[in-house]
Amino acid sequence: MSDNAPPPVQIRADVLATPAYRQGAAPTKAGFKLSSNENPFPPLPGVLEAIAERSEVNRYAAAAMPELRAQIGAEFGVPGDHVHLAAGSVAILYQLVHAAAGAGDEYLYAWPSFEAYPALGLASGAVPVAVPLTATAEHDLDAMAAAITERTRVILLCTPNNPTGPALRRTEFDRFMARVPADTLVVLDEAYREFVTEPDAVRGEDVLAAHPNLVVLRTFSKAYGLAALRIGYGVGDPAIFRAAASVSIPLSVTGIAESAARAALAPEARAVLSERIAVLAERRDRLAAALRELGVAVPEAQGNFVWIPERATGGVPDALALAADFAAEGTLVRPFAGSGVRISVGEEESLTVIIDIVRGHLAQLGGAA
Ligand SMILES: *Cc1c(COP(=O)(O)O)cnc(C)c1O
Repeated sequence: MSDNAPPPVQIRADVLATPAYRQGAAPTKAGFKLSSNENPFPPLPGVLEAIAERSEVNRYAAAAMPELRAQIGAEFGVPGDHVHLAAGSVAILYQLVHAAAGAGDEYLYAWPSFEAYPALGLASGAVPVAVPLTATAEHDLDAMAAAITERTRVILLCTPNNPTGPALRRTEFDRFMARVPADTLVVLDEAYREFVTEPDAVRGEDVLAAHPNLVVLRTFSKAYGLAALRIGYGVGDPAIFRAAASVSIPLSVTGIAESAARAALAPEARAVLSERIAVLAERRDRLAAALRELGVAVPEAQGNFVWIPERATGGVPDALALAADFAAEGTLVRPFAGSGVRISVGEEESLTVIIDIVRGHLAQLGGAA
C-alpha cells in the first residue's frame, strides 16, 4: 500500500492533516547517527545486569515504583509522591497538556523547539501557540509573556532549547514566572540539564519550591543513555500528577526500565555518568568552536547537540541541502526545513567528519557562510 493511501475507516480530518512523528531514516552507508541526541557510550555499569535480573516478564510491574520515585525525589529535596514516572518524558508532556488544556484552550511554547510540542494538543483540541525564538535562538520570554491570554493553560519552556542549544538564565526565568498567572501550569523541560555548563542557567531543583504551578521534566533517555527503555519523570505538585495519571495510559513504564533507572542512579554508575557528561560537554564546545571558525553562527550550545542556523541568522542557505550532504556521507543529522540543522554530539571520530562536510558544503557555495 502506498504511503499516502487514505485509511479504510473514518478518521478525524484534523488528525489526517497532521503528519506523524518521523524518526530519522537509517543511513545508506556506514557513518554516524547524529540525528536523535542519543548517548554514544555503552550502558552505565550495572544497567545490563539489572535488566537481566528482571526476568519475570510474564508479570505486570507494580506501577507505583516507590523506591525509584523516592530516589529521584531525594535529588530535588522532595518526597517520592512529588515524582511522576512515564514511558519517556514526552509521555508526561502529553499527559499534562491533555489534563490542563481542553478544546479551544491554548498552550504556549517557543519555536523552533522540541518537535513533539506542536502535536501535543491535537487529540484534545487544545490550540498550540508558538512564539518565535530571538535572533540568537533563545526563548523570547517577553514575547511569550505577552502571548499569555485567559485561555492559556500550559506554558512549555525547553532548557537548553532543543534544537538550538541556549539555556534559560535563572534571572530571566524568575522575571518570566512573575508575569505568569499563579494557576497556569508551567513545564520546565530539562531533557538535557545534565549537559549544562553555564553557571547562570536555571535549574529545576532551585526553583521548584517557589512555584507550585511548576513541573520539571527530566529523562533517562539522553545523558543516562537509556533511550531504548523509555523512561522519564516529572517533579512537582502531587495533585498535578494525579490529574496527569487520570489521562495516562496505565502500566506504560516497564519493570525493566525501572530496574535500569535505579541501577543508573546508583553511586558507581553516577561516577561514570559524570565523567561521560564532562567528555560530551567538552566535545560539544570543541565542535561548536570549530564550526564558528568556519564562519557559522552556532548559538550557545548547552545540550549534547549543536545548531547550524540558516543564513538569515548566520548560517547556511538551506538546511535540507546541508543534511543531504551529510546523508551522502552516511551520517544522519536532523534538518528543520527553513530554520537550521541540529547535529548531536556523538563519537569523538564524528567531529572531523562533521567539520569536513560543513567545510565542503560552504566551499561549494562559494566560501561564504
Ligand atoms: C528527548 C527529549 C524529551 C524526552 O525524551 P523521552 O525519551 O521521551 O524521555 C523531552 N523533551 C525534549 C526537549 C527532548 O529533546
